[in-house]
Amino acid sequence: MRKILNFIGGDYREPESGTYFDNVDPSTGEVYSQIPDSDERDVQKAVTAAKSAFEEWSSYSNQQRSDFLRKISQLIEEQIEELAVSESIDNGKPLWLSRSVDIPRAASNFRFFADAATQFSSESHEMTGSAINYTLRQPLGAVGCISPWNLPLYLFTWKIAPALAAGNTVVAKPSEITPMTAYMLSQIVKDSELPPGVLNIVHGKGPKVGEPIVKHDDIKAVSFTGGTATGARIAGGIASQFKKVSLELGGKNPNIVFDDCDFNTALNITIKSSFANQGQICLCGSRILVQKGIYDDFRDALVERARNIKVGDPMSPDSKLGALVSKDHLKKVLSYVDLAREEGGKVLCGGERLELEGRCKKGYFMSPAVIEGLDHNCRTNMEEIFGPVVTLIPFETEEDALAIANSTEYGLAASLWTQNLSRAHRLAAKLDFGIVWVNCWLLRDLRTPFGGSKNSGLGREGGWEAMRFFTEPKNVCIKY
Ligand code: NDP
Repeated sequence: MRKILNFIGGDYREPESGTYFDNVDPSTGEVYSQIPDSDERDVQKAVTAAKSAFEEWSSYSNQQRSDFLRKISQLIEEQIEELAVSESIDNGKPLWLSRSVDIPRAASNFRFFADAATQFSSESHEMTGSAINYTLRQPLGAVGCISPWNLPLYLFTWKIAPALAAGNTVVAKPSEITPMTAYMLSQIVKDSELPPGVLNIVHGKGPKVGEPIVKHDDIKAVSFTGGTATGARIAGGIASQFKKVSLELGGKNPNIVFDDCDFNTALNITIKSSFANQGQICLCGSRILVQKGIYDDFRDALVERARNIKVGDPMSPDSKLGALVSKDHLKKVLSYVDLAREEGGKVLCGGERLELEGRCKKGYFMSPAVIEGLDHNCRTNMEEIFGPVVTLIPFETEEDALAIANSTEYGLAASLWTQNLSRAHRLAAKLDFGIVWVNCWLLRDLRTPFGGSKNSGLGREGGWEAMRFFTEPKNVCIKY
């Protein structure tokens, strides 16, 4: 059985504990590889390696760092197929999705920040006739990057690439649930001849690996993507260390559909924003607010489309949805369908565990659910479900829609469907979310600030925001 290994100081390493735990293929329910059960001893080794590689790496020219990142990007592109297959086995997502979105995006993350490394600059402020101030932006040292399971290599590299581009060295931990492509990245990094210790990858469980990374005195900043409860624990745990922290957390995103929208486009994209990646994207719209004039038509069309979504073997090109990531997660998502019923909701379609034929018989599949009839402030409409479950909420006026949309503790992303330009601008300004999409969803320009307000996070990723996060500004004032 394939054994995953840590990657520390440029070499593969067994975990200090000598023990491993099972990695399950969610589409079959079978164990298919072994994950190192690492602990703080492995983290210590990785931090030591990252610390000793920092001086050399941070002294490289921007162009040299850029060349390494570009090489990694090329190597990912050359291995798209192997990486995509591994991602789908590990996560349960359809192969066509890993092949067209996850892995290409991992390659673009490195390419984008290879460019950023050569373009990043800082400001100067002249005090007319008396002095000039300039800002030095220096790398921080060894930094920690921790990512979740829903977009494994995509989000892992989204953190690592800017950290390296800015001249830091990295200790990274992928989710224990989906470690395989991060493991494959180790070989890519080796093949790129990135100096040993610049990127270290430690596998294992959150409390035993993530927490020691976060709390280590020599880790100068932490970039974390995951659940809000974990983010709060991290922020609390390191508050007294005053280290930089970027938190990309959960969401309960509204998708607001007005009477005057382009009905078919809104419907087509709503199907995607509701169920893509089995609804396991932090940006998925899980509360669909529909204006009363088109509510019945939109609901009926959405339910019809949701009923016909093919859920199946992730390796089959016909499967629009694959398996949920784990047995526990499937259980959690299904429990929200039960909760919705208890709260008075009507399940219009789906919400059932599916038992497929053949090799996927024991996999973690469920039918996509559309629910209506719930109060907008019940638990089903307030808590993140993170699965293929959406609720429909009718509204009358723009003010109602705004109040409902802003009523949760989350503020990650909203999408808005209207042909009224003034309304789009008005609402975009008032929606309390880090991202507002108008007549689209998941249209991403990597230069834009990415992140959430309220309990959806702290700080922003993307473009210069990421480069600024991974550098410390220093003002130098020179008197004429
Ligand atoms: P978790 O918060 O459970 O885990 C995220 C990562 O943190 C994993 O690598 C996990 O390791 C690790 N971790 C767990 N406990 C600790 C700890 N005490 N200290 C340090 N690290 C720890 O999230 P999920 O993996 O379940 O991911 C789903 C969540 O991520 C959803 O809430 C989703 O909304 C959010 N998300 C947010 C995004 C955004 O950009 N805002 C994007 C994508 C997802 P392990 O796997 O071993 O537990």
